[in-house]
Amino acid sequence: MGDILVTRSSMPEFAEYVEEIKDIWDSRWLTNMGKKHCELEKQLERYLKVDHVSLFANGHMALELLLQAMGLTGEVITTPFTFASTTHAIVRNGLKPVFCDINPDTYTIDATKIESLITERTSAILPVHVYGNLCDVEAIEEIARRHHLKVIYDAAHTFGVEYQGRGVAAFGDASMFSFHATKVFHTIEGGAVCFNGDADGLKEDLYGLKNFGIRDEVTVDAVGANSKMNEFQAAMGLCNLRHLDREIEKRGRVVARYRERLLGVPGLKLSAPQDKVKPNYAYFPVLFDPSVFYADRDAISEKLKKEHIFTRKYFYPITNSFACYRDRYSVEDTPVALDVSRKVLTLPLYADLSLEDVDRICDLILER
Ligand SMILES: *Cc1c(COP(=O)(O)O)cnc(C)c1O
Repeated sequence: MGDILVTRSSMPEFAEYVEEIKDIWDSRWLTNMGKKHCELEKQLERYLKVDHVSLFANGHMALELLLQAMGLTGEVITTPFTFASTTHAIVRNGLKPVFCDINPDTYTIDATKIESLITERTSAILPVHVYGNLCDVEAIEEIARRHHLKVIYDAAHTFGVEYQGRGVAAFGDASMFSFHATKVFHTIEGGAVCFNGDADGLKEDLYGLKNFGIRDEVTVDAVGANSKMNEFQAAMGLCNLRHLDREIEKRGRVVARYRERLLGVPGLKLSAPQDKVKPNYAYFPVLFDPSVFYADRDAISEKLKKEHIFTRKYFYPITNSFACYRDRYSVEDTPVALDVSRKVLTLPLYADLSLEDVDRICDLILER
């Protein structure tokens, strides 16, 4: 049997992509906010139900340049239970991450622990909607309002997620999405900053920052970078967006089967569906408690690997334990994040994963 990887990129039919990139050949406009780029921005604004979408070459640069555009200073409250990108984006802006622990059920920032971390140097909160689970957006909004803080969401996992009919990007001052090949919606590599309203000219600032800070032909008024999404990436996005609802539906079937097989097994913890949230089935994390279950996370991962089934310890290790941050932060400050990172395994999940394969994976996990 062939390998089962933890994920498999969605792709349009080859002919559909070829059709989409024909215009690019004809126009010879390959990058620098071309037609496909503008079209994708418009379509994403509609799909995500948000006023503004600004595309980037990848999600990380979208986040890094968003923090720069917001002019943040001092400290940013965030969590270590995330991909390296979130913490690096803060540090690379010369800001100090202050690590808040996570909620043991949603794995997102524990909103009840944010306020005790706020100091006179705090300028923003940067929570992560982990695995497609929505943060406690209402509590976070309330705290931010009371303390005059910006809220920037790392929404890399929540493309298409809605809460009470509102797109996830409607919350906070702005959200970053990743369109990396492994994400629910992708443009090969790519990302976006999304936000409602535009009081401070954020759209123009982001446009400048992703293009070297060039305002017009003779004015360079920001120390920008190069992070433009090219036309071939945008074309992939236009194709993938056409099929996305169906892909998410198919992911939902895989998740339903996993839940059917694994829910209620002593020693296994699954993520619960959230109230009033339209999910995107981005990941399927399982926590293995070795004091109850017959094997720990690492043993299960090895057992599946022997059968050519590849899971991921996502997120392990947590970012405040990275070698590059050694001696600066302590994992003891975030005991829940540390505990979850040692127990969690994300199982294979993609639209075309067959239910037979899901059954085989579950059989292997469950049989001693
Ligand atoms: C994927 C991801 C990113 C980074 O996105 P890229 O497009 O790969 O640069 C940031 N944060 C989280 C939580 C992610 O999963």
